Amino acid sequence: RVKEQGKNNFQFYTPDMNEAVTKKMKLEIGLRKGLERREFKVHYQPQMDVGTGKITGVEALLRWHHPELGNVSPAEFIPLAEETGLIIPIGEWVLYEACRQAKSWQDEGLPPMRVAVNISSRQFQQSNLLEAVSRVLHDTGLEPQYLELELTESIIQDSKYAIGTMQKLKEMGTSLSIDDFGTGYSSLSYLKLFPIDTLKIDQSFTRNILADAKDAALVQTIINMAHNLELKVIAEGVETQEQLHFLTQRHCNEAQGYYFSRPIAPEDLSAILRGRLTAPTPLLPQS
Ligand code: C2E
Ligand code: MG
Ligand code: MG
Ligand code: MG
Repeated sequence: RVKEQGKNNFQFYTPDMNEAVTKKMKLEIGLRKGLERREFKVHYQPQMDVGTGKITGVEALLRWHHPELGNVSPAEFIPLAEETGLIIPIGEWVLYEACRQAKSWQDEGLPPMRVAVNISSRQFQQSNLLEAVSRVLHDTGLEPQYLELELTESIIQDSKYAIGTMQKLKEMGTSLSIDDFGTGYSSLSYLKLFPIDTLKIDQSFTRNILADAKDAALVQTIINMAHNLELKVIAEGVETQEQLHFLTQRHCNEAQGYYFSRPIAPEDLSAILRGRLTAPTPLLPQS
């Protein structure tokens, strides 16, 4: 945007804007090169059955180390990857890597776990998503029941397309969850139309369940609703024993959060699972 500053004096950007734009350009160029330069890694965060204390699955979370900018948060680069379309190759790489890792844990003799992969709405809208999922499952040899795809309410914009795609993913044998549930301003009617398995209660609700009676009521209501619809429910962002206790008493099925473990590198997770390492936070794995 050109800003006029007196006669014959045009200033394109303020220094702040300039810095922001430079950073964004650096990130975008970096994203383009990141894959071939092997700057991405996938970390895994356990999901626990609150009844048994056992790990049922892990969520794959992308990590990026930019050579100059250091670690960049997904909250910063995922939106940019979506905007530029780079989420397509990057997302496909995450999908492959997560399935390969899950299969390799099984081959190491660890008890089979589900791996959950985040799919952005742009990826979901891409016509070859089904082909990509099926190819990745074939190439890695992971059985489809161990793959869960995390979708957000934003994919619902085109519900006819969404239902069709979800049905095909279900036919392939994968499971589907709605991530950040309750933050998307969408109508609840999709819950009866979409073939989903799990609701993930957004961490913004979990955070305040002990301090805010309204958040507590919302979480309780989401759990009950999920069960009435025969869906599984998992709470994200569990950081304390008190929060876990609240969720257990209300029959939430699973929990995920720093209380159990932060997202960690695959080799650290397998060391923990083999009992060779102590978890960074309590109780991983409990039994
Ligand atoms: P998300 O899918 O809702 O993932 C949960 C986020 O909460 C992760 O942040 C995780 O590290 C963080 N988290 C987990 N437990 C706790 C806790 O107890 N307390 C707090 N405060 N935070 C917790 P992360 O890894 O920074 O990812 C942020 C978002 O970026 C993800 O939210 C997801 O929407 C997106 N993202 C990450 N990896 C991918 C990916 O491979 N593909 C796509 N499309 N999106 C991704
Ligand atoms: Mg997620
Ligand atoms: Mg979430
Ligand atoms: Mg999310």
